[in-house]
Amino acid sequence: MLKSNLLVVTMGPELVLYFCLFGLRGHLLVSTAPIENRPQIIQVPNSGRFWHISDLHLDPTYHITDDRTKVCFSSQGYPALNPGVFGDFLCDSPYELIQSAFQFMKEKDPVADFIIWTGDSPPHVPEEELSTDMVVRIISNMTHTIREFFPETPVYPALGNHDYWPQDQLPIATNDIYQAVTKLWEPWLQPEALTTLRKGGFYSQVMRPNLRLVSLNTNLYYSPNKVTVNMTDPAGQFEWLEDTLKTCRQSDEKAYIIAHVPIGYLPYALGTTAMREAYNERLVEIFRKYSDVVAGHFYGHTHRDSIMTLLDHQGQPVTSLFVTPAVTPFRHANEHYSNNPGLRMYYYNPQDYSLLDIWQYYMNLTEANLEKKPTWKLEYIMTKDFNIEDLQPKSLYGLAQSFKTPQSETFQKYFNHFMVSYNNSVVCRGLCKLAQVCSALFLDHKSYFNCTL
Ligand SMILES: [Zn+2]
Ligand SMILES: [Zn+2]
Repeated sequence: MLKSNLLVVTMGPELVLYFCLFGLRGHLLVSTAPIENRPQIIQVPNSGRFWHISDLHLDPTYHITDDRTKVCFSSQGYPALNPGVFGDFLCDSPYELIQSAFQFMKEKDPVADFIIWTGDSPPHVPEEELSTDMVVRIISNMTHTIREFFPETPVYPALGNHDYWPQDQLPIATNDIYQAVTKLWEPWLQPEALTTLRKGGFYSQVMRPNLRLVSLNTNLYYSPNKVTVNMTDPAGQFEWLEDTLKTCRQSDEKAYIIAHVPIGYLPYALGTTAMREAYNERLVEIFRKYSDVVAGHFYGHTHRDSIMTLLDHQGQPVTSLFVTPAVTPFRHANEHYSNNPGLRMYYYNPQDYSLLDIWQYYMNLTEANLEKKPTWKLEYIMTKDFNIEDLQPKSLYGLAQSFKTPQSETFQKYFNHFMVSYNNSVVCRGLCKLAQVCSALFLDHKSYFNCTL
């Protein structure tokens, strides 16, 4: 049962944001013209709610110019496909796109309980076009942008593999970037969280009564990270995670896990984990052991919308995991498919923190550019679109199992959302479907490699 409430948002006449990046100094006006359609908060009754944003990937060089090879550094010399004010599929996000995302979130629901932000602020450009200083400035710009739009809302960030220079090489000890983000995120975090963030890029913090947020630095386990090769417990994060979850259990707390690089197998690359396999196995075991504590996992990094279920040793589903799509529409020139910009809201049970629903929003980039209007729309409501009761492990596992049916329409629907309604005519069969379905059902090596359709 869904009910709608009307809420009118009022704002000052204008909000000016200054930014200075890549030697480019300018100011951008945030549009605060009267909102044509009064913002509507449609709520799931008796629920709490929070926003999840990820992979903003700001490209400060983005600009419209006749020479399409010069629209953005992130296209790396390839001509932009159809550049418009809100971006291009071969480019990372122009500031206008990022602004429109936060403007939309603020209009839709300015009083969400909190926001989770799972990293990757800098653009996809070669190493020599960035520096530690530029990475910090971009993360700082994004942090201030979020705070301008949501001054009162608690925000819980996680670091991404691009939130470091050189990218992917996040270290196991304190450094300029961990120190810089500790300063930038100080208004959102408590001293204990800031201490571990400064040291290793991870933290935990109680955010509601009996609910702890655990923000992991899974970039330490990311396959391209050369710093951590052959280490059994980079930055002592495994030990810290176990201790943290043990304390949660003793204090009767639930935990939400947020991180950038997801656990499990990649839905688009058969047999491949994003992390090194040994780290993946270790994490799966920790999360199995503490599945009574962990009420949900929230990741980014793949830029794709996907689900996973963690099974215990008896094959019973014990935890639900979600990967949120990116705000950036970026794809490499040699990749076939992109995604439309996406962001989402989760609804949860405020008593036991179990997850109830996802409302997934997106911008049709082609349309928005044509109309020169940043329209964000509802893409789907998870329970309604997939006909499931809630996002509990059992419901999610049942959904993932249903994908196995030959010519499953539910799977095709899931696959259309995977790329955020980018190209609904793409059909995923054979090995494509095997990779999708097995990654949704199995997180560890043994069960994944026994998976069949
Ligand atoms: Zn990313
Ligand atoms: Zn990433």
